[in-house]
Amino acid sequence: MKSKISLGFFPTTLHKLSNLSAKYHPFEIFIKRDDQTGLASGGNKTRKLEYLLAAAIEAGCDTVVTLGAQQSNHCRQTAAACAMTGLNCHLIVRGEEPVIADGNLLLSVLLGAKIHYAVGDITDEFVEGVMDVLKANGKKAYLIPYGGSDETGILGFVDAMGELKGQLDKERLEIDYIFFASCSGGTQAGMLLGKAKYGLKAKLIPVSIQKPEIGFVPLEELVLKLANGASNDLKIDKDFRESDAEIIKGYDDAGYGVVTQNERKAIHELARLEGILLDPVYTARAFFAMTDFMEKKMIKPGSKVLFWHTGGLPANFHYGKEIL
Ligand SMILES: *Cc1c(COP(=O)(O)O)cnc(C)c1O
Repeated sequence: MKSKISLGFFPTTLHKLSNLSAKYHPFEIFIKRDDQTGLASGGNKTRKLEYLLAAAIEAGCDTVVTLGAQQSNHCRQTAAACAMTGLNCHLIVRGEEPVIADGNLLLSVLLGAKIHYAVGDITDEFVEGVMDVLKANGKKAYLIPYGGSDETGILGFVDAMGELKGQLDKERLEIDYIFFASCSGGTQAGMLLGKAKYGLKAKLIPVSIQKPEIGFVPLEELVLKLANGASNDLKIDKDFRESDAEIIKGYDDAGYGVVTQNERKAIHELARLEGILLDPVYTARAFFAMTDFMEKKMIKPGSKVLFWHTGGLPANFHYGKEIL
């Protein structure tokens, strides 16, 4: 059993979206508020970091290194988690240093992270370079992969499914579909394992955020590798196959981080109907997909649908007028 530390406020709230449900009648729509995990404005990475930082501390590390986009929610939550646990935080982000840091990047700086700008792309050499310098300076650094998606991080989302099961049982509620944004695959792999472990009936509908690039490992493969790699340890006697890891594509056509009419519609709709803020990169895309599925009756009318809000609020302050 891997250990975990406490970095957020759990369980996150599960509640009904009454105004949205009225609009999409006869669907009944619920939301799981991982945008409210409490870690420097929250998000799904909090759950993964509870395991990842425990592993870093157990390994005797004094420094954490991770990587991502400049507006990475994962990087921002890692910076906050490091501040809480007294670890040094180094973030490797793609691109040139902006004149003014905003959104997630601003918060990461405020939270005390040292930012390394990888101009062009983040190469293995660049990461090794940062690790080497830390080592030469007597630091013991723990490297967390993109999105915290490894066999340790995904355990946070195995627990999350147990948490959801407990809430549903208490409310005597059954959910038919769970929509969420899938990008580095850890959330999805953890949910897949957790669904099997806790016997949840809901069908997972992961929405692809980043258009698959030629030559890269497809996300489905990554998810399966993570899920099958961790299943033994969790005593889950199931071999996950391709059909278990299907991901909804097509809503990612504009590319990662590119805001279209779809994302704008989703942000405005949920904000104005329910007073809940999505983010332009992940949750707006997944939420739009969910409403599109309901409108086109691609899921059974009358079913109960859960939107898993994975956070990302600070990115709104970077995108600014693009989302208006
Ligand atoms: C990272 C992130 C996701 C995707 O989670 P993965 O585990 O990387 O697939 C979804 N939504 C938000 C807001 C995120 O920051």
